[in-house]
Amino acid sequence: MNSDAMQELTDSLRQQIIRWVELESPSHEPTALQQMAALIETEVQSGALQLEKIDLGTKTGPILHIHNRASGDKRPGILVLGHYDTVHPIGTLTQNPCRQEGDKLYGPGIYDMKAGVVLALSALKELADPSSTRLPVDLVLVPDEETGSHESRSHIEQFAKQSVYTLVCEPARAEEGRCVTARKGTGHIVITAHGRPAHAGIQHEKGRNAIEEIAHQVLALEKLTDYERGITVSVGTIKGGTTSNVVPAWCQLVADFRIPDAAMAERLREQVQGLQQVNPDIPIEVNFSLNRPAMDRTEKTATLLARCQEFAQQAGFDLKEAPMTGGASDANFTAALGIPTLDGLGADGNGAHTQHEHILVSTLAERRQFWLYMLAQLD
Ligand SMILES: [Zn+2]
Repeated sequence: MNSDAMQELTDSLRQQIIRWVELESPSHEPTALQQMAALIETEVQSGALQLEKIDLGTKTGPILHIHNRASGDKRPGILVLGHYDTVHPIGTLTQNPCRQEGDKLYGPGIYDMKAGVVLALSALKELADPSSTRLPVDLVLVPDEETGSHESRSHIEQFAKQSVYTLVCEPARAEEGRCVTARKGTGHIVITAHGRPAHAGIQHEKGRNAIEEIAHQVLALEKLTDYERGITVSVGTIKGGTTSNVVPAWCQLVADFRIPDAAMAERLREQVQGLQQVNPDIPIEVNFSLNRPAMDRTEKTATLLARCQEFAQQAGFDLKEAPMTGGASDANFTAALGIPTLDGLGADGNGAHTQHEHILVSTLAERRQFWLYMLAQLD
């Protein structure tokens, strides 16, 4: 590609990204998600790709399955995973409009991950003819990744089982645009304490303080953090009590945990489920749920990485690998099924989930070409 063609490509990608970012689509707004899905659908239907929608009900948007399969082609292919929801509430654009400053293009959800999806989709559009890729390509866009992919998980896993590789459009790691080969697993711990209410002044001795019991459990949970082994347990919220002059009968904490592999997840589960109530009169309920299992860097991941590094070279840049990250994504689901998975292949930039979220415009064209080479040549 000569420099004029690269500039033209950059301009058109930039315009498409701005269109997508200016349609806000937070995970909890079904109407906005459906509008976002409709915008993507319109843009896909202007080309030769196929699009199928999987309805997930009225509480979210649909899954969009965009592919270049010839009719009847059931071969396992390349699964490209993305999401079109963002963490930013409606109205964020008013304070934080889509704008360019130097090489940085800012806007809510631009880096995580609307620009990443635009890159993959743009490449796939050029490969709409089934004979232009060695494997069929299935681009699957979900509406609920930022809230844990609860509605779309089973579909993601179904698609992954029919794939040879999974490539994920999550943002490239800030600083050098590194890709991701390993992610910690993540989940939640909920502990609920059931005390006994009493008048705090008249019958204090009859009360059993649920908040006090939960305070003990907070300390016990936080102690399970082990930085050396890569385990964190972080109590994020506590709710409890009614008013200051009542001994609280109920209290609940919710904690986030991250673990580097399945064995440590099991060990943590045992430790958490083994927690004992400190006050014998205040029973506790302990709930441990692993949402996303850890994404391990396997031998097959390393092979896929090496091939993709060659495609990046063709596109004009070095693809480096990030160290294991504590952030989970839908890549965790596909990797846990044993499918070689590479993540962090989306846009280069910084500031995911913040007001200074941005992408680097000068990297768009080469990163889009990188997608083109991966999708066309992987076999
Ligand atoms: Zn994301």
